[in-house]
Amino acid sequence: MPRARSPRAACSALTRAGGPPGLRAIAALVAAALLGWAAVSPASPPDDGAFQGQNTRFSWAGELTQGGFIRGLAPDGAVAVTVGGTPVAVAEDGSFFAAFDRDAPATVQLKAQLDSGQLHREALTIAPRQWQIERVATAKRSGGGSDEAYWKIREPEYNAITAARAQRTGATGWRQDFIWPVKGRISGRFGRQRIYNGEPGAYHSGIDIAPGHGVPFVAPADGVVVLARTGFSLEGGLIIIDHGSGLNSAFLHASTIAVREGEAVMQGQPIGNVGATGRATGPHLHWSLMWGDARLDPLLFTGPMN
Ligand SMILES: [Zn+2]
Repeated sequence: MPRARSPRAACSALTRAGGPPGLRAIAALVAAALLGWAAVSPASPPDDGAFQGQNTRFSWAGELTQGGFIRGLAPDGAVAVTVGGTPVAVAEDGSFFAAFDRDAPATVQLKAQLDSGQLHREALTIAPRQWQIERVATAKRSGGGSDEAYWKIREPEYNAITAARAQRTGATGWRQDFIWPVKGRISGRFGRQRIYNGEPGAYHSGIDIAPGHGVPFVAPADGVVVLARTGFSLEGGLIIIDHGSGLNSAFLHASTIAVREGEAVMQGQPIGNVGATGRATGPHLHWSLMWGDARLDPLLFTGPMN
């Protein structure tokens, strides 16, 4: 997997992002989440570029590709930041997280409204991916999605998932390098899609790992459990963890759940066991990552499995 890195990225953004955030940063994130908008960065000197070490531009590092993400540092004096039109929460130290949907366009605009009144903008080039597309000569299964009886069951489930994903806990796992929740055979990759007689089906929204029934899996990064319930018709035993800054993980088909809603979890902490609950043909963990409405490729967060 090629790693697209900005040459400027090696400097401040990542070293700052690596350390434990202070309470003030957390407070800023919470404030940003409550406002639904970027936090105000600390008072900074006038933006005349004469001060050494002053950030007059964005810096970032990450995976500039569809399904990828960046961790970055906003220019000094940024009072509001958007990526591709989506408001981004900026921590008090100026760092932020942003990500690119599976179907993100080739260019995404990075914009900062500065306290000087100026608008600073930079363009990000997002590399396209070659998704695994399978054309089949059968009709698309209806799946019962339009059926009234089905929706009666599905609607409360859907609402619970949507509400959980909308929670903003101030978690800071978004700053960490993610680890694999469990290692094993990868039985389904992110983005894979079937085309039925020319009609596209829904693409695979996560990665499937099949280490065997009952194998424990762990939190890939710090976070707060925003949903942990069994019995979902599609997902079965479902855990959703908020990693902060709008980034969350979902873990499907669990046979058992080891955490409770509202609980803070640490990277590497066991959270459940692999199963085949809900709609699953065999025991596996489906792990998906979302940032707002953008669906992301977990493999870009962890790197290849060793
Ligand atoms: Zn899956």
